[in-house]
Amino acid sequence: MSLSSKIAICGMGSVGKSALVIQFLQQRFVSDYDPTIEELYRKQLGVDNEAVMLEILDTAGQEEYTSMLSHYLDKGEGYIIAYSIINRDSFNKAGEYFDLIAKIKESDEKYTGSGKFSIKNIPIVLVGNKCDLDGERKVTYKEAEKFAKKNNCPFFETSAKENINVKDAFFEIVREIRRSSGNKKNT
Ligand code: GDP
Ligand code: MG
Repeated sequence: MSLSSKIAICGMGSVGKSALVIQFLQQRFVSDYDPTIEELYRKQLGVDNEAVMLEILDTAGQEEYTSMLSHYLDKGEGYIIAYSIINRDSFNKAGEYFDLIAKIKESDEKYTGSGKFSIKNIPIVLVGNKCDLDGERKVTYKEAEKFAKKNNCPFFETSAKENINVKDAFFEIVREIRRSSGNKKNT
């Protein structure tokens, strides 16, 4: 039997969410994925010698926080929050996603049961995509790393195009989910 993990990949439009998901699942780069398509993927894989049935929601069209998006954010156990290193707005937007997820999870029994709610306890991985475009960089590695540290979450710069750190980011969110459920059992 394998544990299932529901994750959602969030972030501003065109940061490369779909490209990341497809690179991870199908080992190919799609340069023209329809930006309006929201898709749920399922894949069984092994992470650190443990099987997991990963459910990945590739979110789309979230320029406004719709009730549909809230619903998916609510159902998720872990989140990849993505921005593009060549787009500063997308980095600011990533910060807003942390706040939004915190707000949604704050009412969740799983997180409030201990009476110590914190965004730091929610499995999140921060991803700065398009690192192959270093020459057009608008967000430094350092500042993103600092932001991630503050929120106690792993951080990777990735390239869906060059397949850099893509697998690592997805594996890490599975580990984060495992850590968080492990913690709950021990407390
Ligand atoms: P989404 O709206 O966040 O799902 O973004 P998409 O996956 O549709 O990608 C938006 C655009 O960025 C597309 O033109 C992709 O070809 C491009 N793109 C995605 N990831 C990368 C990357 O890692 N490097 C580069 N250079 N372009 C990328
Ligand atoms: Mg997309």
